[in-house]
Amino acid sequence: MKILITGITGQDGSYLADLLSLEKGHEVHGFVRRVATHNRDARLWRISHLLEPTGWNGSLHLHEGSLDNPASISSLIQKIRPDQVYHLAAQSDVGASYEDPFTTMSVNVMGTQYVLEACRCHCPKVKIYFAGSSEQFGPYADPPMNEQTFMRPISPYSVSKISGYSMCGFYRDCYDMFIARGILFNHESPRRGEEFVTRKITRAVARILAGKQKTLKLGNIDSRRDWGHAKDYVKAMWMMLDREYPDDFVIATGVSHSVKDFCQLAFNLVGLDWKDSVSFDTGLLRDGDIPDLVGNASKALNVLGWAPVSSFQELVKDMVEADVERES
Ligand code: NDP
Repeated sequence: MKILITGITGQDGSYLADLLSLEKGHEVHGFVRRVATHNRDARLWRISHLLEPTGWNGSLHLHEGSLDNPASISSLIQKIRPDQVYHLAAQSDVGASYEDPFTTMSVNVMGTQYVLEACRCHCPKVKIYFAGSSEQFGPYADPPMNEQTFMRPISPYSVSKISGYSMCGFYRDCYDMFIARGILFNHESPRRGEEFVTRKITRAVARILAGKQKTLKLGNIDSRRDWGHAKDYVKAMWMMLDREYPDDFVIATGVSHSVKDFCQLAFNLVGLDWKDSVSFDTGLLRDGDIPDLVGNASKALNVLGWAPVSSFQELVKDMVEADVERES
């Protein structure tokens, strides 16, 4: 099977590449930005083990392009005619979407349309996965949220994701294409970007332990999120395409924890007290912060047979241990 992953250099794309290439043995193609080829250590570190021993294009087939450039995605899809496309590439940082709503909308909405349109023109029978987000629900829905829960976005990021989600629904209904939409709650891992709060915490724990950093500034530590492990969540993506008919699925653990809970556990794991190092910074409070996001993934369990494997404690431990190793 030929598979194309957009966003292969990101957290989810890299785990998905591991799953599809190493475990399942499929031919995996990745769509990467041109800057990645010139800054390999910084941009390709999550998939570097798949690029050995030959370097660029090891067991993967990497192709340069950008979601800002419709011709690059169209010609690639025309060339490889994949059996499956996992459309993961996005401006994925909610906070950054307030600072740059234009790039967020352009990449997440228009980029999605370029992918859909290229598939419709060149390989209409392809199976497509769209990376929707729990942020689409916004702050007014009662948790736990499922596939029927009303969505009311409150950030440029969530507006962009709902737009992409709706466009996928339109292409599925109007052109009879196989497009599965995942509504994934937060998922983390040692490969999470440093701009996200979980990784910011585990990296700070490791740096404080190593004497490289003294304090950690955080915004709203009472925000609650339903955190799972990215390795479990990419399996759900694959299961959504390994079916006869496309559908929509919430993927979540069903339990939320606060940023404070995450912090306390992460510091405790290395024998530190979070209260000695963490300070509150009003500048880090986010407009439209959602107080509690918890998902109900019973449809995924009943229809796909999917359930998370890693617990919250195992996730935090995995992230802390990886950062301690990096910083030591
Ligand atoms: P990351 O931020 O780790 O990865 C984003 C990827 O998109 C990177 O590979 C990045 O490339 C790529 N990208 C960004 N802009 C462009 C562009 N203009 N052209 C081509 N590629 C681009 O995100 P995750 O792996 O965590 O998430 C994957 C998807 O799932 C995203 O769509 C995200 O919004 C969604 N999602 C994630 C959740 C989570 O908790 N992780 C929850 C719900 C949804 P580069 O390396 O060059 O920057």
